Amino acid sequence: MSVRIHQLSKEIGMDNKELIELLRDRGFEVKSASSTIDNISAESLVEEFTKEESPAAEAPEATAEAEAAPAGPKIPEGAIVKTAEDLQREREAREQEEAREKAEKAAAAAAAKAPPPAPKAPPVATPPRPSTPPTAGRPPSPSGPPRPPVAPRPSQPPVAPKPSQPPVAGKPPAPAGPPKAATPPVVAPAPTAGKPAAPAAGKPPAPAGPPKPPAGPPKPPSASMPPSVPKPPAPEAAEESAEDEAAEPAEKKILHAKPPIVVRDFAGQIGLKPFKLISELMEMGIFASMNQTIEETVATKLAERHGFVLEIHHRGEGSDKPAAKKKEEKPAEDDPRFLKPRPPVCCILGHVDHGKTTLLDTIRKANVAGDEAGGITQHIGAYQIDHNGNKISFVDTPGHAAFSMMRSRGANVTDIAILVVAADDGFMPQTDEALRFAKAANNAIVVAINKIDAKGANVDRVKQQMQEKGIAPEDWGGETICVEISALKGTNIDELLDMILLQAEVLELKANPSCAASGTIVESQIEQGRGSTATVIVEKGTLKKGDALLCGEAYCKVKSMLDDAGNVLRDAPPATPVKIMGWSTTPKSGAKFSTEKNEKMAKRAAEEATLDRKREAALQAKEDSQKAPATTVEDLFAAIENQQKKCLRVIVKSDVHGSAEALVNSLEAIESDKVDLDVISYGVGNITKNDITLASAGGSCIVGFNVKLDNGVQSLAKHHNVRIIQHEIIYELLDQVEEEMAGLLEAEMSERKLGAAEVRQVFGVGKGRNVAGCMVTEGTINRGRKARVLRDGELIHESTIDTLRRFKDDVKEVRAGYECGINVDGYDDYEEGDIIECFDVEAIRPSLR
Ligand code: GDP
Repeated sequence: MSVRIHQLSKEIGMDNKELIELLRDRGFEVKSASSTIDNISAESLVEEFTKEESPAAEAPEATAEAEAAPAGPKIPEGAIVKTAEDLQREREAREQEEAREKAEKAAAAAAAKAPPPAPKAPPVATPPRPSTPPTAGRPPSPSGPPRPPVAPRPSQPPVAPKPSQPPVAGKPPAPAGPPKAATPPVVAPAPTAGKPAAPAAGKPPAPAGPPKPPAGPPKPPSASMPPSVPKPPAPEAAEESAEDEAAEPAEKKILHAKPPIVVRDFAGQIGLKPFKLISELMEMGIFASMNQTIEETVATKLAERHGFVLEIHHRGEGSDKPAAKKKEEKPAEDDPRFLKPRPPVCCILGHVDHGKTTLLDTIRKANVAGDEAGGITQHIGAYQIDHNGNKISFVDTPGHAAFSMMRSRGANVTDIAILVVAADDGFMPQTDEALRFAKAANNAIVVAINKIDAKGANVDRVKQQMQEKGIAPEDWGGETICVEISALKGTNIDELLDMILLQAEVLELKANPSCAASGTIVESQIEQGRGSTATVIVEKGTLKKGDALLCGEAYCKVKSMLDDAGNVLRDAPPATPVKIMGWSTTPKSGAKFSTEKNEKMAKRAAEEATLDRKREAALQAKEDSQKAPATTVEDLFAAIENQQKKCLRVIVKSDVHGSAEALVNSLEAIESDKVDLDVISYGVGNITKNDITLASAGGSCIVGFNVKLDNGVQSLAKHHNVRIIQHEIIYELLDQVEEEMAGLLEAEMSERKLGAAEVRQVFGVGKGRNVAGCMVTEGTINRGRKARVLRDGELIHESTIDTLRRFKDDVKEVRAGYECGINVDGYDDYEEGDIIECFDVEAIRPSLR
């Protein structure tokens, strides 16, 4: 028995990666989360970690107790620290203020005035505060500060006077109290653990009095100094600080500022009184008055301290900055906090006839999402199934060799490649190719050994091959998940899907469903009544009706979205395949699309992309035309030859964009030394009159794959003498195109010798004419065929045999070994020993190579 790492990690609540590292440290040979370890080791690990967790489990209790206790020291320490900081700052600020305003006033008077504010208990009300400012200065480290203060607190209940205000935002007062070590003596203890109810305590004890002590707070840590107790903050200040406190936990807001940054203005921006800002600056060792400016870096720090993100816009770069900022913000989409698990996207790859289509069909039939009877109404190139409540998306990749590009694209948009290998056939060229695609695309690989039911199935041989190819199966000590199936009989299909889900789990696939949608075009086409449509896989965000999409030169306002069952979807979360209607033109298969702010912007961007392409093409054409002329004789001949080379110009039309591209690639791959092939344009949809016009203008023919002719196209093509080559099988289509290319070549004439005869005697036949009495020495001599007279190997005359006689009869043919009389048209001067050769000339079908 063995246990998979990812199961174990779940059980002990540890990350897959952490657990793998831990196990490796302990000498286990584990490679991935799908690796296994023996169950005894697994159990001991579970035990070990469960034990380890137990103390942690006690913690919460302790905290609970602590909370319950009046002292409440154990509470959110982070919060405590912040409060302390605030209070400290406040205290310092207040003192600064006082120092400034009352500088000229008599110390005695000041002292006399001091008490009054105190009694106005309100401040006291914010008990925690006074107590907080551990004179010690800077925030006491959450952990460090002693809890002692807790004790004294009890006496301070009065503090709670403002029941409403007490523990900031209802937080257990604890924060305020405990950590502040310094405070203890001074202020009374924390209000009963911040229970606002405490106010009952009645009148605030003259807290004002005691806390008074030290006046020299600004000097921070002076370690030697005993913890000074802050003066009770002025009520106003107290309120402000309360606001600050409340604001602190909020999310950081963005502040925009243009240098120069003036203290007074900046203070207002960050919600501080100028004097407070000045005192904070002093704390940083910067002395500035209200009307002075501060440096950007200082302002940024201060803004941060108060919960803002400062964006500084220099003059002249106004619009750039926000744009840059936008870009910076983008990564936030991938912030782990926003990521949610998503279904895996798979593709089924493998050699032709190994059962990919059968497997896809079997999976679909058994697991159509929603399981609606007869729901499968569309082929959209990708679909989603539901397996035990888990979704799996599949990208449908065509099987033909010509479509390797589409298959590689399939591998690119997917997470998991299911490599189908027939057990009775093993790895074949396209299996290797598919494996390469999958590896290049960084796909996880699941091998489906298919046709285990077939005669001659040899699963071990496939596994052996897997090992040789570096994807050893798990049960052979490797890492590749491998399932033995029969797509035809449905054997182990559920297990295969389980394994896909397992692999997906291991991959921890996640995406942010809340950002703007983006993804990849799987297939695009023109459909009657729907215009340009495209099947896409959403990779990030959630696609919604009405979204404005951009994909290269195509843009779209999503008019409607359909799934593979023809259901209208309102939104498509990550990993959903969906067909989108409303494209301006067919986007390219495999291209990425993104969401733009609105249709207008998408349109503009698409137009710009078109312009860019045209500009580039023009530039390229210019460069080509400026290429240096031929300089050597060889170059010259090559150039002449090139010019004389025939060229078949074609316009390609196909049903879907991916096929069109695949077809273009296959056409361009036709090799020929004699004829070039130039694809003038390619597109999707039926062959139209427009295509014919274009073809006739460019002297091209039209190659259509899986498309029909629009009405009237046939007659127009005839009229313009435009050839249309159409087929639904790509091999046939390619053959026909090759024939068409060859047709451009002039036929080659080839001579075939039929026979020969030797002149033995020359006879006069009257009117001064002669006939050669011959013996046929080889083959046959045929009347009417071509013949040449040779003397001593030299050609004397060439023409046709116009008379052929045996004895006195005209004959058509005389075979070797027989005598005959021959007259070659236009010749008369035969001599004994001349050879008459009879031959044929045939036109040979030109070959492309
Ligand atoms: P593809 O070219 O890879 O899509 O292969 P197909 O799905 O078209 O299958 C090719 C042939 O293999 C078909 O005749 C199927 O019926 C057959 N086939 C597919 N799966 C199995 C299987 O599991 N067992 C057997 N015996 N035949 C299968």
